[in-house]
Amino acid sequence: MDTESDSPDFEALRAAMVRDQLAGRAITDSRVLAAMGRLERQRFVPEAHQAYAYADYPLPIGEGQTISQPYIVAYMLQALALKGDERVLEVGTGSGYQTALLCLLAAEVISLERHAALSAQAAERLAALGFTNFTLIVGDGWLGAPQFAPYQAITVGAAASRIPPPLVAQLAEGGRLILPVRDGKTPDDQVLVCVRRLRWRLRVDKLCGVRFVPLISDHATPNQSS
Ligand code: SAH
Repeated sequence: MDTESDSPDFEALRAAMVRDQLAGRAITDSRVLAAMGRLERQRFVPEAHQAYAYADYPLPIGEGQTISQPYIVAYMLQALALKGDERVLEVGTGSGYQTALLCLLAAEVISLERHAALSAQAAERLAALGFTNFTLIVGDGWLGAPQFAPYQAITVGAAASRIPPPLVAQLAEGGRLILPVRDGKTPDDQVLVCVRRLRWRLRVDKLCGVRFVPLISDHATPNQSS
């Protein structure tokens, strides 16, 4: 073995991820495929897991949280149907990986994270990659960020007990909110939901079963309206 074989060929692993895990399944949005083919995912995972950065499963990122499996990130981004001119709200910055993809796919990204340490680390990574079209906020994503609303797209990376009313209120007309919601007896029974604000009403579609970490919020008690 030569010394170069010690570090994985990330470029080849990334190309294989796009081909096998994304294009090889239901991901057809060329902008999503291009962004995920370009962004170095290994920069967003802890060193100990870097060799698995392009593996087909979630990885730990510290604070008991995970970076989602590439396919589910791609699936959610595709469901947002971004064109490039949107202001997007993300709940659950986590590693900052999806935040970086949103920076590539939309005009402006506002991202909320309850763990200050994760948010600070994500800010460093995004700045190191040269991104400038993002604002990271430490706070409770259940409440959204009304100061920057409305959003043409909102995405949530943690499962709530129900659809947070403040996020629906911050959705622009024609906008889409994609989020996992608990749907069953256990916290692991979850469904990915798409909420669209149409002219006169909301349209809510269930997309598929998923498994995310829980959205942790003091505001999420079942009987409150917000
Ligand atoms: N998409 C992220 C992964 C997110 S994991 C990535 O690419 O790395 C979900 C994140 O949601 C975790 O970092 C967790 O701390 C955060 N989170 C959970 N509840 C939250 C809340 N109420 N407000 C903001 N962030 C929250």
